[in-house]
Amino acid sequence: MTVPPTLVADGLFEIAADSARLLGSRCTGCNAIYFPRTLSCRNPACDVKAVQPTQLPATGTLISYTVQRYRPPALFRMDDWAPYAIGLVDLGGGIEVMGMLHAIPLDDIRIGMALKLVAEPLFTGDDGTPVLTYKFAAQGAS
Ligand SMILES: [Zn+2]
Repeated sequence: MTVPPTLVADGLFEIAADSARLLGSRCTGCNAIYFPRTLSCRNPACDVKAVQPTQLPATGTLISYTVQRYRPPALFRMDDWAPYAIGLVDLGGGIEVMGMLHAIPLDDIRIGMALKLVAEPLFTGDDGTPVLTYKFAAQGAS
């Protein structure tokens, strides 16, 4: 029996058969997409406000990024800390999300590069099991 992996936050992403998928909300009125999930539509021009869960696309394009060069303060946990990149990723359809970039050397990051969502360990939990977060890896990388 396999133990399901621990995810860094509930309702943020899930691990599907072949990839990780971000969990968002879609407005049933204006089709606006929100990530992370929201309780109601925030479009001021929308009269419906009702949202339903939706999976976001698992691939996208890098729009911009920055490099986190100092260790974030407590509450943020990360084993083997080293400077890492945070990317702004266009998932298509007007959806843009931020996430850590995975296994891409900082000097090799290029605006416009194709990315795919992955679930990767962030730190080891108090019970000794890895806690996973979502990250974006270069498409074509394993
Ligand atoms: Zn709406």
